[in-house]
Amino acid sequence: MKVSPSISPFNHENDLTGPIEISPQIWWVGHLLENDPFQCHVYLIENGDRSILIDPGSKLTWPHSREKIRRILPLEHIKYIVCQHPDPDITSGIEDLLAEIGTEGRQLVTHWRSAELLEHYDWGLDFYEVQAENWELVAGDRRIKFIFTPYMHFPGAICTYDVQTEILFSSDIFGAVTENFSLFATDEKSYFQAMIPFHTHYMPATEIVNHGLDNIEKYPLSLIAPQHGSIIKKAFIPFLIKELRNLKCGIYLEYGGTRKIELISKINAIMPEVFEAAAFFDSFHRDTQHILKIMQKVFPISRILALVLIDNSYFIKLDSDNDTVVPCNRRKEDILNKFSETFYKQKRLVMGSEIIECIRFDTPKKLYLFPIRNYKKKVTGIGMFALDPAFETSEEILNMLRKFEIAVDVIAKREVEVYRLENEKKKVYTMAITDQLTGLYNRYYLEETGEAELARAKRHAYPVAVLYLDIDYFKKINDRYGHDIGDRILKHFATLISGHLRKGDLAFRLGGEEFMVLMPYTNRSDALKIAKRLQAIVKERGVIDTAEGEVSFTFSGGVTDTDECGYDLQTMLKRADEKLYAAKAAGRNRIVA
Ligand code: GH3
Ligand code: MG
Ligand code: MG
Repeated sequence: MKVSPSISPFNHENDLTGPIEISPQIWWVGHLLENDPFQCHVYLIENGDRSILIDPGSKLTWPHSREKIRRILPLEHIKYIVCQHPDPDITSGIEDLLAEIGTEGRQLVTHWRSAELLEHYDWGLDFYEVQAENWELVAGDRRIKFIFTPYMHFPGAICTYDVQTEILFSSDIFGAVTENFSLFATDEKSYFQAMIPFHTHYMPATEIVNHGLDNIEKYPLSLIAPQHGSIIKKAFIPFLIKELRNLKCGIYLEYGGTRKIELISKINAIMPEVFEAAAFFDSFHRDTQHILKIMQKVFPISRILALVLIDNSYFIKLDSDNDTVVPCNRRKEDILNKFSETFYKQKRLVMGSEIIECIRFDTPKKLYLFPIRNYKKKVTGIGMFALDPAFETSEEILNMLRKFEIAVDVIAKREVEVYRLENEKKKVYTMAITDQLTGLYNRYYLEETGEAELARAKRHAYPVAVLYLDIDYFKKINDRYGHDIGDRILKHFATLISGHLRKGDLAFRLGGEEFMVLMPYTNRSDALKIAKRLQAIVKERGVIDTAEGEVSFTFSGGVTDTDECGYDLQTMLKRADEKLYAAKAAGRNRIVA
């Protein structure tokens, strides 16, 4: 029974138990094996007693293909047996075919590289080596071309092209692995998805694929009949060739020959996205959140963490769950010990990646740990992927996760640099606002913060007091005991002031032996009490020991507040200074409020 050529196979629920005429006199005579993801197709070019059988099949499929061919023509009419490469799944059935029809007058059409291997079957068949025949075969009116596609997947691999119908029998190229088999590709996008795992792992390199496609594209194509997957109609061909040219092939080389072909092909697909996310620098938190979303398409991963050593002295914790970088304020050794105890029992820093299973806070965890290295390649931290504890991990999975380490490593390194710079900036700023001798704030900081503090006070209507302090007869102390003793007195006075302040008060050294305290939420009478208490403290403890005996000092003070001056810093400073002057004039060692 022939399928009428007027009915397009593409719109037809095909009965795969019989031969299918995919184009006039071009037949699919394959047989589907159950549970075989690489269904091998067999094609017959009906050409009278010079018919051509392409990739006949295996001992498993041949009895079925034989039945289908017999419904089209007598087996004896097969004159040419084309082997596009020598794999057993397409050649082992030939022995049974020849046993039935004999070798007399028949030829095995192939490339010399295949011929050298197929010879070992000792079929006694003539070889027709295509490279020696100008890559073509003329059989009556039929002209068949052979296209050299080396390493796709065999060094002597060829495709077969029927000039009359413009059909390409593409062998492994355009093949696919599909769970839901259909003899004809139904849409280009989903068929390409099925082609990806087949090509990216099977074809050794993108260049090799492109070389083969260059040769194929020299011919007009009406239909592609691959050895695996589905038959492709003309409309789909340009899209598939374009996409195929851009596939990153050869990934099989990178994963230790795994059988998890679909998994590595998915990884291959997300890899560029992950590295793009890593290159687009935002913060460790946001970058790794982005990477997590991409990696979750393939792995059950919930969190990315890194502990990185800074300046060889302390660790910071970087976390996909947390936007703030947390310095671990413990010593490096403590962290390493803690880390060892918490996450894994052996007390050592991981040098290579490994999977650790542990229980933390009663929750089972599965962590993939890997080293983070500094620019000198020295291990300075630990990166972590938190995986679903139920996820089955193996050396193979480890190999796959390893591909993503570098993305985290890059982000962590950058975050460390940013953190270091921020810290430097903070240090420099602290220096800029601090009086070097006493450690109190300096006049520069008063200008930075005073106005803002008063504006806030005004907005929330709370009082602010200003206390102006000046050591009495300081010049005399300097003159009598020397500048160094003077400095020690300044430092000691500063210590007494800061020790006496409440939270929120700000103490400044404005220059020389002049000090100032800014007291939010404080009015003049409270500030006076505080100043008097400070006076008592200085009376009791305002003494330093020197080689020339004890040196003590007193101070005078002026107090004002926002009630008196309004919320204006300059007015307050001026008023406090006037009161200080009054205290000095009244004999010193006193406070005027
Ligand atoms: P009064 O009681 O009126 O405040 O008299 P005084 O001597 O304390 O005040 P005056 O302003 O006349 O002198 C302040 C002295 O403080 C002059 C200066 O040499 C000294 N001085 C300023 N800065 C420093 C410093 O950083 N260290 C030391 N040791 N002395 C300083
Ligand atoms: Mg003074
Ligand atoms: Mg002075």
